[in-house]
This record gives sequence, structure tokens and C-alpha cells, in this order.
Amino acid sequence: MSSTDLNGPAIAPTSAEQSDATTEPGRHAQIIVIGGGLAGVAAAVRFRREGWHDFLVLERADAVGGTWRDNTYPGAACDVPSHLYSYSFAPNPNWTRSFSGQREIQDYITKVARRYRVHDKHVFGCEVLSASWHEDAARWRLETTKGTFTADVLVGAFGALCEPSLPDIPGIETFEGQVFHSARWDHQAQLAGRKVAVIGTGASAVQIVPAIAEQVDELRVFQRTAPWVLPRLDRRYSALDRLACRFVPYYQRLLRSGIYWAHEAQAVGLAKAPLAMKPLGIIARAKLRREVPDADLRRRLTPGYRIGCKRILLSNTYYPAFRHEHVQLVTEGISEVRADCLVTADGAVHQADTIVLATGFQVTDSPTYRRIFGKDGRSLGEVFDKAGRQCYKGTAIANFPNMFLMVGPNTGLGHNSMIFMIESQVNYLADAIATMRRRRIRSVEVRQESQEDFSRMLQRKLSRSVWNTGGCSSWYLDKHGANTTMWPGFSHEFRRITRKFDIDAYHVSTRGPV
Ligand code: NAP
Repeated sequence: MSSTDLNGPAIAPTSAEQSDATTEPGRHAQIIVIGGGLAGVAAAVRFRREGWHDFLVLERADAVGGTWRDNTYPGAACDVPSHLYSYSFAPNPNWTRSFSGQREIQDYITKVARRYRVHDKHVFGCEVLSASWHEDAARWRLETTKGTFTADVLVGAFGALCEPSLPDIPGIETFEGQVFHSARWDHQAQLAGRKVAVIGTGASAVQIVPAIAEQVDELRVFQRTAPWVLPRLDRRYSALDRLACRFVPYYQRLLRSGIYWAHEAQAVGLAKAPLAMKPLGIIARAKLRREVPDADLRRRLTPGYRIGCKRILLSNTYYPAFRHEHVQLVTEGISEVRADCLVTADGAVHQADTIVLATGFQVTDSPTYRRIFGKDGRSLGEVFDKAGRQCYKGTAIANFPNMFLMVGPNTGLGHNSMIFMIESQVNYLADAIATMRRRRIRSVEVRQESQEDFSRMLQRKLSRSVWNTGGCSSWYLDKHGANTTMWPGFSHEFRRITRKFDIDAYHVSTRGPV
């Protein structure tokens, strides 16, 4: 796909596009995408560029952007550099810093959706209540809050980091102050002068804590497991940087490639040889020593597992936030929440009038899995409960014909841009649909044995990874302890195996003679 930067003119609609412009319920579309986040928008742009206009994107919210639309908490920013964390087909010379903030990324996604004319293919405010495969008609039927839709092909781009995981702490429902999740930030909540409790110390919390520390009266950070934190090499781009990206031939592309390969190298330590993570551990310990002079606090902030086992966090402001006297780290477990306080296992009472739940997402048990019903009537959730989150190339699942997941099981990365993985999946999906059109294929369903072989290969590789051997528990592992989240290798290996739709791995039913 050729690239066009975001400063170019918007693409004008063609007459074919206009004829398929209706987003009315009851409509049949060749392709329906669930979710207008980064993955849904990428897929939609590809369909437009392939000249396929008969598709819709059903989006429950009122804007594109997914996780970047929802995570508006103070300090929200990406920890993958922006020149890499952007679509390859839509480079953005205007990034203002190396690690952009949420607002800038959300604006970028919105601009891409408008620039490539996929915004008008979205049905906003349309939540999918169920999607079921009808074998006789070889169609998906979707019941939504806006009525019924049908589709030949279903693309599940509903995201992995979208459903908040809420902690089940006794008494939390009796709390009389404000409680909200980091991904549902309550911007009406007054923080100035308040006693705030932040539960969790993951990627969201380490951004929230320094961002609110100076406003609040008291801040208690409830840590269950200490994270590893590395320096954040962030800088503001000058006007000259931006001009070079825009006008110097290949400059931005080279910059992106340099960042990509520097990140790619980290897959060695994460996925293949955990001992190679040691130098990063040394850097992180040195940072902790430099930024936390208090020995007892430093001990409590020191992780007890190998670096990389959980997501490595980047921050220059998290540890320094604890230098404020009113910012306290609490490492005793929370045993109970009462009307105006949290009580920890040592009996200490921590007064609070606001609780921020920075407690992550339902990744391996997404509620949407329970709304998608395959060929034998079982939901994706039931299938996953029985067999684990087995999936072929993070995209196709036996019993779910003509369905392609985006950011499905084992596509997660700890070292590189998820947009790279998304674009790889879009290649695969587009080649699958092109093959189906060319060969008059009615349905494709991945073979059970292809899926099982692929899963076995993944689990064999993952057994050596730092996520499995590093001595931590994390959301990368499902309730059976299997790692069904991370991709065990280089992202370019995933690009290679998704370059072409490998029809031999699928059962195929055709509409008639080719
Ligand atoms: P997370 O990484 O899952 O962290 C959740 C935190 O809450 C952990 O510290 C966890 O402790 C704690 N926790 C969960 N349940 C708890 C309970 N019942 N009691 C006490 N503590 C509890 O979630 P996140 O920080 O929202 O990040 C999720 C993912 O989103 C990241 O891994 C990353 O992929 C992405 N993200 C990226 C960025 C970025 O680019 N900068 C920013 C935010 C998020 P344990 O560790 O003990 O489980």
C-alpha cells in the first residue's frame, strides 16, 4: 500500500462508494467490522483502498479511537514512539513529541478516519448484543442496539484493552466518595484538596500518579506488585524536526525504520533468551537508586521478579512523585473498603474521598466473547473456556467461519508497536477476502488441526519466554496459567506468516464453479 501523509487532501468519494453509503439497520453488508479503534479503522481504510465499499463498522461509542478515545486520564500517553506508533500508510510529520499524549493520538486516528473516508462507514452508538453464524445462508447475523445487520464476513476488532477490570474488594460498593476506573476517568471529579487512593501500579497508574500528585491533598498508591521502571527518553520535536519529516525525502521513513529495529531487538530478551534482559535490569535498579534515596521505600519499590515478566514501564516522574510528603506508597494488601476509607491487612485505615481503579482490563476473558456464537451455537467464551484461547495466527478460530479477529490471542507485544501487528493482520484479512471473492468462496473455516498445531508451536516457544519463566503473575496468563496473550518472537516473523492467506489451513465451501 502506498503511503500518503496526513497533510494531503482528503480522498473524494467515488460513485461506487456513494451507492453503498447507507448505514441503515436491516442492511446486509459484505463485511462488518465490530469496533472503530486502531484496528477497525486500519481494516476499513484497507477495504476502501482495495475498492471494496460494501462494508460497515459498528461502533458502540460516538467516535473512533477505541482505547485512545477512552483513556483520557491525566498524563495518558503512549510509551511507543509516535513515528512508529502510527499507520505505515499515514505517516504524520506533525507529531509534537517522541511519545505523544492521548489527545494527539486520538486526533491522529480521527484524521485518518476522515482522510480515508471511513468515518462515514461507521455506525456510531451501535453496540453489538450478539453475532451468530447462520450456516444455511452462510452469513453472520448481528443484533445491535440499532437493529439487525447481516454480513458475509465478520471482523472482530473490539480490542483487548477496552473492558475495565474492576477489583472485587469487600465493601467497595459502600464507599461514599467517588470511584472510577482509569479508562473511565470522571472529569467532573474534583481532585484539588482531596484525599485520593490509586489502586494499581501498572502502565496507567505510573502516568496518573505524577500527573495528579501536585493537585491533591493526600495521595495513597496501593501497590500489589512493584513494576520495573525504565527511563522515558521523551523529547519535544522542534519545528526543524517537523520540517525535515515533511520535506526531506525518506527522512521520516528512515527514522521510523531506526526506531522499529531498535525496538525489535528487545524481542530476543523477552521471548527467546531471558538472560539477555539483565542489562535492562541493571539500568532500572540504577534509576531506582538515583531517584529514591529512602532505603525502605526503595526496597518496597523493588520488583521481586525478572524484568520484562510484566510490562516494563517508562517514566521519569513516577518515583520522584514519592518525594512529596503527601504521596505515600502502601504495600499491604487492601482487605476492605468502608464508606470513607480503605483498610489494609495490617489494620491500618487510609482515609480517602476518591478512589481511582488503575486495575487494568479484562483481556483474556473479554465479555464480547460471550456475544459471538459460532457454527455449533456455542459462544467464543464457551469455546475458550473449554479449550483455552486457541486461535490460528491470532486471527481465525475453528467453529467460527468467515470471522477474523484483530488483536486476537497471542498477538500482544512487549517490545514494539501494536499497529505493526494490526497492519499484518489487515494484510492477511484482505488477502483472505480477495481470495474468497476471486474463487467464489462461500465460507472459510480454519481447520481444527491447523489451529492446534499453531497453538502447540506458540506454547513451545512461550515456555522459554520471560513472561512464562520470569516469576510473576500477569494478565498475559489466563486462568489456567497458559500465555494466550503474547506473540513469542519478532514482530517481523508475524508479518511474514500473515503476508498471504494460506487457504490450505482452512475448510472451504464454494458457491459454485469458479
Ligand atoms: P495493568 O497493567 O493490568 O495494571 C493493573 C494494576 O492494578 C497492577 O498493578 C495490578 O497489580 C493492580 N491490581 C489489579 N487488581 C487489583 C486488586 N484487586 N487489588 C490491588 N491491585 C490490583 O493495567 P494498566 O496499567 O491499565 O495497563 C494495561 C495495559 O494497557 C498495559 O500493559 C499496556 O499494554 C497498556 N497501556 C499502555 C500505556 C502506554 O502506552 N503508556 C498506558 C496505559 C496502559 P498486580 O501487578 O499485582 O496484578
